[in-house]
Amino acid sequence: MSPRPDRPRHRVSRVPDRARYDAETVHAVLDAATVCHVGVVDDRDFPVVIPVLHARVGDTLYLHGSSASRLFRTAGRTEVCVTATLVDGLVFARAVFHNSVNYRSAVLFGHPEPVTEEEVKREALRAFTDKLMPGRWDDSREPTGQELKATAVLRMVIDEASAKVRTGGPVDEPEDYELPHWAGTVPLRTVAGEAIPDERLTGGIAEPDYVAELRGERS
Ligand SMILES: Cc1cc2nc3c(=O)[nH]c(=O)nc-3n(C[C@H](O)[C@H](O)[C@H](O)COP(=O)(O)OP(=O)(O)OC[C@H]3O[C@@H](n4cnc5c(N)ncnc54)[C@H](O)[C@@H]3O)c2cc1C
Repeated sequence: MSPRPDRPRHRVSRVPDRARYDAETVHAVLDAATVCHVGVVDDRDFPVVIPVLHARVGDTLYLHGSSASRLFRTAGRTEVCVTATLVDGLVFARAVFHNSVNYRSAVLFGHPEPVTEEEVKREALRAFTDKLMPGRWDDSREPTGQELKATAVLRMVIDEASAKVRTGGPVDEPEDYELPHWAGTVPLRTVAGEAIPDERLTGGIAEPDYVAELRGERS
């Protein structure tokens, strides 16, 4: 079905009561998601969707990667669609039709532009690092000028975005609630496992607190 021309392209059509357009919800989905998917029509007119890491600072989304990669060569010159998704649970209904998942997702449209200022680039890389591994930037060697040059950073203002959120249990047809099938939800989450120290780790370097904190442990 083609979208209505008078309808903003980020307006959710199906189950619109699950849609959110406020920055707080969109930002929260982006912050919670480890990976986003960037859809772009490349220079040969092929659509391609590529998974990458992302970070958000205020109302700006940052993407980073190799300066040589196609996504970063193309995305700086054209519009992209970025999605982020979290699956929070399996929802078992009595009817196959009503089985579902609980989720939080966001879809953004925008025109990313390359970050050229070295300081902004460095801050964006700090944001990537600390989003993925909180505390790690200050406990690692910083990028050299050459490494910074080899890393492309794109910034995109988040101003055309929607989130969609499903929570709660199954919703069955009224006549199906008496059927003899189990119904309910199974929460899903990503958990950090035991750390595996690198074989070449120099003796005497203890696991940092921020690694234990990934497992929910506090020293
Ligand atoms: C979880 C995750 C996080 C990542 N984070 C980043 C990031 O932050 N920055 C970054 O630059 N890259 C990241 N990558 C790698 C990224 O997905 C691409 O592989 C990379 O950007 C491709 O660059 P390219 O120019 O070589 O390939 P392209 O020229 O873009 O791709 C050529 C073809 O290779 C195939 N391809 C490319 N990537 C993938 C893939 N991931 N899986 C399967 N097929 C693929 C596709 O068919 C594509 O058309 C991440 C990948 C994953 C899975």
